Amino acid sequence: MKKIVIAIDGSSACGKSSTAKIIASELNYKYIDSGAMYRAVTLFFDQNHIKLTNPKEISKALENINIAFKVDEESSLCDTYLNGLNVEKDIRKMYISEKVSEVSAISEVRKAMVDQQRKLGKSKGIVMDGRDIGTVVFPEAELKIFMTAEFYVRAERRQKELLGKGELVDLETVMNNLSKRDQIDSSREDSPLIQADDAIEFDTTNLTMEEQVDEILQLITSKIIEENSLETQKL
Ligand code: C5P
Repeated sequence: MKKIVIAIDGSSACGKSSTAKIIASELNYKYIDSGAMYRAVTLFFDQNHIKLTNPKEISKALENINIAFKVDEESSLCDTYLNGLNVEKDIRKMYISEKVSEVSAISEVRKAMVDQQRKLGKSKGIVMDGRDIGTVVFPEAELKIFMTAEFYVRAERRQKELLGKGELVDLETVMNNLSKRDQIDSSREDSPLIQADDAIEFDTTNLTMEEQVDEILQLITSKIIEENSLETQKL
């Protein structure tokens, strides 16, 4: 069976990562959370007091950043490692969410991350979620999904997720963070969050996780069948 690239883009808390994780495991594909990479860079910059206005300092810092993903044996979840250390919990904290969009808007940072993301997707069989996966990272992806959800629903979902990780944040703070990030992510010059022309828009506002996964798996199955029959016709 031909393996494909699945790009899932959209704003924060639309359900991208949770859906992508399940889909990748169902298909036995690799899952990459590109947002985790930008969060890891943000953590490194924060810990090392990198000045965001100094391109030289940024380039030097990027040379010292190694990001990897490893599956945790106990939870079966994929954790993010920064220079060999598991930073999964740290990068999800609110103070990183407050700084990540500013860091992600820097072209040097984007270039370094996109290079790594393309390497990870070289042999296909990958589900990657983010903001620019279908537009910049994998413009040739066989399936592109652009996820949306109503703002209030996204904020409630994110608040619940943070609570599940032991961080109690009031809804207003979550809403402010989401709207600030939406604004920066969609208006930045380099690779703004926009829907690719050939992406399928997918609204998750009224869907449960199970329904989202089912509907997306159906889209993927039709795509894979289509790709395989095209392949057969070529033979
Ligand atoms: O997906 P998540 O909300 O964890 O992403 C955190 C931040 O990383 C986003 O708000 C955005 O600024 C940045 N990001 C990006 N490009 C991607 C993925 C994430 O700029 N492909």
